[in-house]
Amino acid sequence: SGFTSLDLDTRLLRAIAKLGYTHPTIVQSSAIPLALQGKDILARARTGSGKTAAYCMPVIQKILLGKEGGRSSKEPGVRALILVPTRELAEQVSRHVKDLCLYCSKEVVAVNLATSDQSVANQKAILAERPDIIIATPSKILAQLEAHNVELKDSLESLVIDEADLILSYGYDEDVRKVLGFLPKIYQSYLMSATMSSDVDQLKQLVLRNPAILKL
Ligand code: AMP
Repeated sequence: SGFTSLDLDTRLLRAIAKLGYTHPTIVQSSAIPLALQGKDILARARTGSGKTAAYCMPVIQKILLGKEGGRSSKEPGVRALILVPTRELAEQVSRHVKDLCLYCSKEVVAVNLATSDQSVANQKAILAERPDIIIATPSKILAQLEAHNVELKDSLESLVIDEADLILSYGYDEDVRKVLGFLPKIYQSYLMSATMSSDVDQLKQLVLRNPAILKL
């Protein structure tokens, strides 16, 4: 398929084939090779562009690589944090991750912290499953971090802020800043946004280092 040139893990390629994706979308063919090289990514990409898989594939691949022969430079623990503005998007992203991990579901465990009916205590139990990937709204992950139910400082290798413009317009600005205080100094980051407001620009300064900028 059009994906084979992207240097993705066979387990991901098999899942992609199973999903019926024959060719990468523009955001995928642009972002994935750069992300696999370790670059931070800033992408202006809308819903429908395939942006979710564009960051999920390299994030998952990095986790798989790290598990092989203990190649991750980080301590065991949560590898990736995906911040989203809404519960609905969190569910969509979770489904995407699950679909893409069809052939590596033992190696890559993802949890969604944005579900409505979870108390902080319930979420503590979910976090005890030792997830590799956490999908959450800024407020949900912040509550867990502040309760010391999860720790990201020594293990996190990827941060995604999806629909960054919406995250900021929903007033999650302060929560995101606080969450960043719980992250390690070095991690790879992805900032996805439909628009590039001055707010997004500020966030960009906080999380991205010399990013590849994709205006699609
Ligand atoms: P997104 O922009 O991430 O919300 O994705 C929009 C829709 O496109 C989702 O339903 C995906 O499953 C689908 N999709 C993502 N990548 C591809 C692809 N390469 N080929 C076909 N469909 C895709």
